[in-house]
Amino acid sequence: MKECMKEYKYIILGAGIAGTSLAYFLSKSQAYEDVLLIDANTSIASEASGAAGAFLSPLLGKDNVFKNLVKNALEFSSKFYLKNMPELYFPCGVLRLPKDKQDENKFIDYEKYLDFTYKKIKNAYFFDVGALVFSSNICKALAKNTKTILGEKILNIEHKDDFWYLKGTSNFKTKNLILCTGHKLKELINEPYLDIRELWGQRIDISTSRKFEHNYHKKCSLSKTYFSKNFNQDIVSIGASHHRFTKNYGKNTFLEEQINLKKLCKNPVSYKQGLSKDLDILISRAREIAPLDDIKILDTFVGARACSIDYFPFVGEIISSKNSLEANKNIKNGLEVPKEKLKYYKNLFVFNGLGGRGFVLAPYLANILASTLTNNPLMQKNILDKHLKKHLDLDIRFFRYARKL
Ligand SMILES: Cc1cc2nc3c(=O)[nH]c(=O)nc-3n(C[C@H](O)[C@H](O)[C@H](O)COP(=O)(O)OP(=O)(O)OC[C@H]3O[C@@H](n4cnc5c(N)ncnc54)[C@H](O)[C@@H]3O)c2cc1C
Repeated sequence: MKECMKEYKYIILGAGIAGTSLAYFLSKSQAYEDVLLIDANTSIASEASGAAGAFLSPLLGKDNVFKNLVKNALEFSSKFYLKNMPELYFPCGVLRLPKDKQDENKFIDYEKYLDFTYKKIKNAYFFDVGALVFSSNICKALAKNTKTILGEKILNIEHKDDFWYLKGTSNFKTKNLILCTGHKLKELINEPYLDIRELWGQRIDISTSRKFEHNYHKKCSLSKTYFSKNFNQDIVSIGASHHRFTKNYGKNTFLEEQINLKKLCKNPVSYKQGLSKDLDILISRAREIAPLDDIKILDTFVGARACSIDYFPFVGEIISSKNSLEANKNIKNGLEVPKEKLKYYKNLFVFNGLGGRGFVLAPYLANILASTLTNNPLMQKNILDKHLKKHLDLDIRFFRYARKL
């Protein structure tokens, strides 16, 4: 007899900070049985979200729309973490140190544009708003009230008779599908204008005889000293390296080194040069912030940030470029047709491209996306200002791509 497939109103694919934040806000207004969160890994936050520091820090620079997005998101997310999961959020502040003389001059230029209150300490700037969050535990806490299936890699998605069908080792059926699949976005939907680039990186947790009261950021971030239940001792997190791979130092070499280092960390290992190229870079950058002694490497984490080319995240219903171009032949000649004339994959959404600021951006944007998905007027009060919305809408990205054809 044919098994009856359970129908969901919403399926969120990917249980990183994007997917779990969305699960949190959707589950607030939906019945438990209506929302399902799926991930290929056997635990939540196993990819970029588990590797993150995760440091929350303001963006310095002249005023622009992206900086404004980070400002709004940082204000929202800090209050959100403090109210809903205070045990996983450390509002310890961050000292931003210039990297060199040129950076020092830039910081002086930026003073009049700084969005958050600060104290100047010599040539550095201390921001109270800086914080640290427990990345994996935050994602687990966000997903707590959502039905979740782990260890289920979805290989294929298909739309038929008003439903999305997801094929993995089991099959799933949903009205609305939201792809929060990080750097693997293209495995399920290959839309050329949703261009995600991988930016790999490493974070390490160490013990050291030095104690730090707050976070620092220079060429990398160094956290305040905090107590880790896992290691039953005070630790410091250092993050993160950045790699777009080249032939000389490819992804395979990097990942092999990381696997070896992870194995070594089964017994905390005293730091010496040469264990891994990436580790040496991180330690030397951290030592530019403060002299670190008696370093023991306790654990290492790697992941790939999913970065869009223009830094803005992808949030919204996905446009089919093939169908939109077929239906509007003039788009290729530079004509911008009204949004209503574009062709969408019905009820297929994306929430991705959070780059290096996932823990700042995700709760803020997930709240907005959830309110759009559920047409919830109360939540919509918090809607983006028009200028910002324009940059986040996918049609801008689609038109930009189409014009290049
Ligand atoms: C080393 C490092 C340090 C960082 N430091 C910071 C920081 O200090 N502060 C900060 O704010 N951000 C930081 N970031 C960035 C932040 O981690 C990312 O922006 C964020 O984690 C992205 O979240 P995500 O949910 O989009 O992606 P991910 O966390 O990668 O989650 C995507 C999920 O989708 C699942 N998935 C993909 N395809 C499928 C499929 N077909 N079927 C089922 N499941 C699937 C994956 O298993 C994965 O769990 C850092 C990132 C790295 C790598």
